[in-house]
Amino acid sequence: MTAKSPITETKEKWVYVFGPGRTEGGAALSELLGGKGANIAEMANLNLPVPPGFTIITQVCHAFFTRGRELPPSLRPQVADALSAVGEITGMGFGDTQNPLLVSVRSGARASMPGMMDTILNLGLNDLTVNGLSKRAKDERFAYDCYRRFIQMYADVVLGVDHGIFEDILENYKNLNAMSLDTELEADDWRVVIDEYKKAVVENTGEPFPQDTNEQLWRAISAVFGSWQNARARTYRSLYTIPDAWGTAVNIQAMVFGNLGDTSATGVAFTRNPSTGEKEIFGEYLRNAQGEDVVSGVRTPQPLLRSAGHAPGGSVNSLEALMPDTFEQLKGVLEELEKHYGDMQDVEFTIENGKLWMLQTRAGKRTTAAAIKIAADLAVEGIITREEAVSRIDPLALDQLLHPTIAPGATNKVITTGLPASPGAASGLMVFTPEDAVDMASGEVGVILVRKETSPEDIHGMQAAAGILTARGGMTSHAAVVARGMGRPCVTGAGAMRIDMDAKTMRVGSLVFKKGDTITIDGTTGRVFAGAASMRQPELTGSFGILMDWADSIRKLDVRANADTQHDARQARDFGAQGIGLSRTEHMFFDEERIVAMREMILAQDAQGRRQALQKTLPMQRSDFKSLFEVMAGLPVTIRLLDPPLHEFLPHEDRDIKAVARELGVETEKLKIRISELKEFNPMLGFRGCRLGIVYPEIVQMQARAMFEAAVEALKTTGQMVKLEVMVPLVAFRGEFDAVAGEIRKVAASVEAKMGQKIAYEIGTMVELPRAALRAREIAQGEEGAAFFSFGTNDLTQTCLGLSRDDAGPILETYLREGVLTQDPFVSLDEDGVGALIRLAIERGRQANPDLKLGICGEHGGDPRSIALCHAWGLDYVSCSPFRVPVARLAAAQAALKGRSS
Ligand code: PEP
Ligand code: MG
Repeated sequence: MTAKSPITETKEKWVYVFGPGRTEGGAALSELLGGKGANIAEMANLNLPVPPGFTIITQVCHAFFTRGRELPPSLRPQVADALSAVGEITGMGFGDTQNPLLVSVRSGARASMPGMMDTILNLGLNDLTVNGLSKRAKDERFAYDCYRRFIQMYADVVLGVDHGIFEDILENYKNLNAMSLDTELEADDWRVVIDEYKKAVVENTGEPFPQDTNEQLWRAISAVFGSWQNARARTYRSLYTIPDAWGTAVNIQAMVFGNLGDTSATGVAFTRNPSTGEKEIFGEYLRNAQGEDVVSGVRTPQPLLRSAGHAPGGSVNSLEALMPDTFEQLKGVLEELEKHYGDMQDVEFTIENGKLWMLQTRAGKRTTAAAIKIAADLAVEGIITREEAVSRIDPLALDQLLHPTIAPGATNKVITTGLPASPGAASGLMVFTPEDAVDMASGEVGVILVRKETSPEDIHGMQAAAGILTARGGMTSHAAVVARGMGRPCVTGAGAMRIDMDAKTMRVGSLVFKKGDTITIDGTTGRVFAGAASMRQPELTGSFGILMDWADSIRKLDVRANADTQHDARQARDFGAQGIGLSRTEHMFFDEERIVAMREMILAQDAQGRRQALQKTLPMQRSDFKSLFEVMAGLPVTIRLLDPPLHEFLPHEDRDIKAVARELGVETEKLKIRISELKEFNPMLGFRGCRLGIVYPEIVQMQARAMFEAAVEALKTTGQMVKLEVMVPLVAFRGEFDAVAGEIRKVAASVEAKMGQKIAYEIGTMVELPRAALRAREIAQGEEGAAFFSFGTNDLTQTCLGLSRDDAGPILETYLREGVLTQDPFVSLDEDGVGALIRLAIERGRQANPDLKLGICGEHGGDPRSIALCHAWGLDYVSCSPFRVPVARLAAAQAALKGRSS
């Protein structure tokens, strides 16, 4: 054991050392040490092979910016002490010309932000220490290779000299000396190139490349802290809502070298497959390379596993085949890490002359499909509980599973093939820059971002694109990692593509594609197709089913769907809906033929005209309802009476007005007058909801008849009576409810008598006006009061806030941008305002009727945060769009788990 150097006392501890017997931190300190620093310390505590080093904590980042990008002077002695501790552990000295300690300087925030901030490797080299390194490594070429890499990286990150300048110098040198571009240079060549590099630094900065290693270190630390506020890091933080205030830590660690020849290497490994979740080591490595070479995708790496190769006998260049002992050791470390953390890990490692070093571990980013499989498998393997598995999946990320894949019969020409980096298929217009991706992507038209390789600067373009295609890079390149995290389909390493950035074209052999051409990528297989290929929706089976079963056994809320068509109802049942919570009957008339009948009914001059029009709509409604009841046999189905804000249904075009006039047998001009009579200033607060049915009871009569007859007809085909819930919209007064409910009961009795069949039905109301919430007790009171409340939170938000749901967009955009609000209240329930009304209605409604059934059917019914509130408030069910049903099932289970633990 070497003697320990004393740690200088200052009030605040800003530096935490890690290394054998000296580790001061651990995984629990990630707030201070950042994810990378905390996990390196944790690995050191587990006695895994970690190069020693130290972490400067995240608070220093805050201090750095508060002081106008200046590091606090009291940091210096702590860094000096830590550096000498690392020197003692390694037996080297920082700045020592004979036996120099070289370090890496890396960022590391609390949340992983891959590639968004800066890193510097090989720091501590200068004109003298390079000779010490050369002697120690007995490899002059290696030492100079490190030195030129360092100058280039340092100049780029710290001095702001574009790295392209150095690449040009190197390329010129090779051209002048008639070398091919992939020739490896000798030490003498590097000396010449390094001189050129140093000249370029002087030319571009007006100062020489710093030879003082302490100055190098100090400026590098500042630059890495400074990179917390670079544009791409800020974009990433806003995309992933990472608070600005967190700051990054800086990790300074003894260098180990993967570029010491063919017994050295560097790589990235996942303990399980991050695309599929399969339990197999997954990753890539490069021999004779430094870490950034793998991540940047400049050289195409080799797989870790022999079985990853397609040739008979597998990949002969795999780590498993070429360095079997080190591979076995890595495998052991990966198993230990996964067990220790109870989650799939993503590690970086370096092999220096056959010795394995672990540089980083973190929970690996994964596709949602992989997340589900991994969580379910870990629970089955007994590493985590079922509850933990259920709580690990982000409900909103389930969306990713619903990505389409290429339909089996698609005949599109395969242009080229790359690596299947992020699953799912996407079609779109080709674009070659992130700016074009942002400009050309619209709601209807997707774009495919095509790049040689992506870099963190492309993040906004990747976000805007439907899919990403790159010519270079492996499965762990920036493009692959970021695309998987975003759920964007991605194909990387399609090496046959030749991209011309100036002409904005892509060539494969004799085929040429230009900006704006449509292509399809399949991130599940790596294939790239010409044109828009037809797609198939995924089936949700296997681990998804298992995890959802667990979620279902945990949750207390039922999950229903909002569905107006048989197709939606089927989709909803396939996704596990337990009934329909809202069927908007006016939506059944959106189609072109039917809307005429609807308009006839609305525009009729008198009850007689209305009855005639309603007579036409009755069979349509009956067959719509019957098809819903058949799909939902035995389950509850809530049918809402007509609730059309009239402006959505009035004809505006001359052609449409003429069509309705013809049907009604009236003159066009007369009809125009009728239309103008019906125009409202404020249709959302106008002649809609139950008001329509009270003024025109024949509408209620027709709809009720259609429902009850359909229920009896569906009973005949399915053998099960649907649990029909008739819902009265936009009620404010008990009197309104009674008027409509009275009509419904009369029709029910008449249909029961006519068809000789008792019908199971209840009548309830939507709560979507503040008055309904306030008068909930009265509305639910007695035998003939509302049997259920369904919170129509779209309207309840609109009416509680006095903010039109159709006009709120631009206002809320400003509110959110300016921080007046933190959430869009039409997306996530306004807990304090609208929520207070809901709680009041629940309390008063249940006072009147303890068995009152309670649900929610506004858009909030599919929002995980709102679902958690519904659980806490004791609702019986949430109802949401069919594609949100799995999201709601999972969110409801997580809400129940949270309720258990609090
Ligand atoms: C609501 O207002 O929340 C609701 C579900 O009804 P609609 O969106 O049809 O007005
Ligand atoms: Mg409504």
